[in-house]
Amino acid sequence: MAAPVRVRFLGGVDEVGRLGMVLEGQRTKLLFDYGMAPRDPPEYPAPAPNDLEALFLTHSHLDHSGMVPAIAGSQGIPIVGTSLTRTMSDLLAYDSMKVARLEGYPQPFKREGIAAMNAQWDERHYGDTRESGEFDVRLHAAGHIPGSTMFEADDGSTRLLFTGDINLIDTHLVKKAEPVRCDVLAIEATYSGREHPDRTVTEEQLLDAVSGVVAQGGRVILPCFAVGRTQEMMCILANQGYDVWVDGMGKTVLQMMLEDNRYLRSPRELQKAMEGVTLVKNPAQREKASQAEVIITTSGMLDGGPALHYLSTMRTDPRSAVFFTGYQVPGSGGRSLLDTGALDLGKGKVEKVECEIRHFDFSGHAGHSEIVQFAKRCQPEHVVLYHSDDRSVLAKDLGEFAKVHTPMTGEDVELS
Ligand SMILES: [Zn+2]
Repeated sequence: MAAPVRVRFLGGVDEVGRLGMVLEGQRTKLLFDYGMAPRDPPEYPAPAPNDLEALFLTHSHLDHSGMVPAIAGSQGIPIVGTSLTRTMSDLLAYDSMKVARLEGYPQPFKREGIAAMNAQWDERHYGDTRESGEFDVRLHAAGHIPGSTMFEADDGSTRLLFTGDINLIDTHLVKKAEPVRCDVLAIEATYSGREHPDRTVTEEQLLDAVSGVVAQGGRVILPCFAVGRTQEMMCILANQGYDVWVDGMGKTVLQMMLEDNRYLRSPRELQKAMEGVTLVKNPAQREKASQAEVIITTSGMLDGGPALHYLSTMRTDPRSAVFFTGYQVPGSGGRSLLDTGALDLGKGKVEKVECEIRHFDFSGHAGHSEIVQFAKRCQPEHVVLYHSDDRSVLAKDLGEFAKVHTPMTGEDVELS
């Protein structure tokens, strides 16, 4: 590696949320992702340099995409990503403005920023290469959600791979990410030191649990994130003989995925799943859906959305159940329910929930050993870890074959 490159994070290194990484070459600065942490109050990354060449967006989840409209609105730079990442980021950006308004927080950008993001979008597909200053940047599938991308940036002497969020097993929606030969691997470390159970076993356990609840006359709520998890749960639970209803923003995302279906592992499977459920189309239908055997709905962490309405209709029914299928951050309604069996259902008071409460591990992130195997196959000299509240265990294992960096926000890492 003759000409050194440098990376610096603007956030999201020792935490899951508000990620942003600047890659600095001899003449050019590129930004990879620019997210927010939708907490109470929301948290934002450090300001970005004002001489960026382009922004590369891996996927639409808010912790990666949430502040892209702020950059697009203030710097007229290209935003590079897949077509599906654009449509879903647009939806989430408007939704985050709505949430900020409802919760009384200042808006970090205006509607014009979202319009600028769309106007400046430079749509690319997996396998495409985009020139940015001295870098050639190539897109690879990341296996995390439909449209999610890893970026390989090559200045002719150093090749860096920025993974964003990756999954290394096939799911119903997308195929797993494949390793890319690189000198520098900048990889997420969400599951440092932790493994996932076998996915097929988890699916069977979920189906068994649903079957048990329905057999005793109860109902099941699956609080799910709009992007990815709602559609994944539809694929698992539709056409299993249950009366399944789907509510929340995941319905809009579903339409986006089916319209731009080249990022799906099997468009047919998701189409069939949609035909095997009932989508809640208006508030009147919500009353009907309240009687359904299975309800898949936002929000994934019970911090709002139709899930709270459904939960309030069955709160005192011990035959019914709440099955979580995603991580519940500390401070969320879902975390409170898991830890204490009670939560605020939106009425300003904490109420006890008498339903069965369980968590199933359907993570969209690679587990510890999967990351180690993947990193080995990329054969990097350097590994840069981010997106984790404890990177140490992964740093130790990866240190056996590469130089590992665990920078803090604002710290320069020179890679040569
Ligand atoms: Zn993500």
